[in-house]
Amino acid sequence: MSEHITIIGGGLAGSEAALQLASRGYKIDLWEMRPLQNTEAHTSADFAELVCSNSLKSIRLDTGAGLLKEEMRLLGSILLEVAETCKVPAGHALAVDRELFAHKVTQLISEHPNIRIIRAEATQIPEGKVILATGPLTSAAMMRHLQTLLGEDQLFFFDAIAPIIEADSVNLDIAYAKARYDKGEADYLNCAFDKEQYYNFVDALLEAEKHEAREFENEFFNGEKFSFYENCMPIEELARRGRDTLRHGVMRPMGLEIPSTGRKAFAVLQLRAENKDLTAYNLVGCQTMLRYPEQKRVFRLIPGLADVSFLRYGSIHRNSYLDSPKLLNPNLSLKARPDVWVAGQLSGVEGYGECIGHGLLIARIICKESSELPEETILGQLWRRLITPPLKGKFSPVNANFGILPGLEKEIRDKKLKKEMLSQRAITALQALLNPPSSS
Ligand SMILES: Cc1cc2nc3c(=O)[nH]c(=O)nc-3n(C[C@H](O)[C@H](O)[C@H](O)COP(=O)(O)OP(=O)(O)OC[C@H]3O[C@@H](n4cnc5c(N)ncnc54)[C@H](O)[C@@H]3O)c2cc1C
Repeated sequence: MSEHITIIGGGLAGSEAALQLASRGYKIDLWEMRPLQNTEAHTSADFAELVCSNSLKSIRLDTGAGLLKEEMRLLGSILLEVAETCKVPAGHALAVDRELFAHKVTQLISEHPNIRIIRAEATQIPEGKVILATGPLTSAAMMRHLQTLLGEDQLFFFDAIAPIIEADSVNLDIAYAKARYDKGEADYLNCAFDKEQYYNFVDALLEAEKHEAREFENEFFNGEKFSFYENCMPIEELARRGRDTLRHGVMRPMGLEIPSTGRKAFAVLQLRAENKDLTAYNLVGCQTMLRYPEQKRVFRLIPGLADVSFLRYGSIHRNSYLDSPKLLNPNLSLKARPDVWVAGQLSGVEGYGECIGHGLLIARIICKESSELPEETILGQLWRRLITPPLKGKFSPVNANFGILPGLEKEIRDKKLKKEMLSQRAITALQALLNPPSSS
């Protein structure tokens, strides 16, 4: 008898998982609440609707997004294959005709004999094997159910992300490693400002163009007004409170004297490691609503970051996700319900490609086709991130970038070459897993 699985949410992760499992003979009940009940961002009744940009980002192998796609291609992603047939010209990016894409996915799902579609809001997780793929805009009733099941403090409702930069692009003649008051390990890199540099930076922050909070972002969960928690306040909003606010707060220089001169700086921005290999750093306290080109311009005014490369830009938006490292088993199922897997953005991966890839991964785990993926791969590292507590601070969503991969054994100075080598290493490792040499 074929196995039955309930999937809640027909977005990117849910659609990929449904098609993968259905093609292997599983009987799927796919719940989707649209169009009876909409989210703040979706506008159609189609499955796999892209809610904002129509780009699945780069296909180049010297980018994390490109490597992710290559891994997904090797693993047989169905949505990626559909996306290829809906391509529009976009240079090195895989951009699609979004309506055609969603339409084609909807057709595949609707016509699949193993998929039964249920157009209704699921207000709780049913019995049996379930994939919960309700996304960053999970309905209020389901969020309340999750709060009861998992605990109120295990869910986050919005995201305040500081930019993440490549370690190699920080000028270490200027930035220095030091712990505040030399207490403990010198885990942070510090960027010291003099008075003029600091006020230039603050003025640039204040003048920079930012995203206006969209209507749906003003409506916080459950009808309450969206308001920033103090420690998630955008840096430009803090700066607006007074030109000295930052240097008395997140950028206070006390205990961070410049080692080469022993002098106190006027202000200091700290960079916190994002991974054990120290290949990526987070700009502490720099969560922001500035537009991406403005982030590039303004954050490059920070001493030591003039030529910095961004792995991820900062942002703030409504985003429901779980504290996955606390809640998930190694096979990505819920500790509280080992027959339930959380797929897509609700689990804490972020981005269209990442959510499709994660749906694919969950399907493979359920079919017992993947018990692990190589640590050299983006998908392998996304998996590890979801079950490994962060080095410091709270768990925040993770996307495909080279900063999450272990470094190469040999130091490579040429950045493009280094990224290509990281990609090649990942592809080789995944191919070896998928096609092991025969033992005969
Ligand atoms: C406003 C916004 C803009 C974004 N823009 C981008 C972007 O430009 N590029 C990018 O790479 N990423 C973007 N993201 C991030 C993310 O990649 C997408 O949100 C992605 O669609 C998430 O995929 P998913 O499968 O996890 O969820 P979704 O694709 O959102 O799918 C979840 C589905 O579950 C349904 N659902 C929710 N609750 C229930 C319920 N209780 N019962 C039944 N059905 C339910 C929803 O209707 C939806 O169809 C954006 C996110 C948001 C919130």
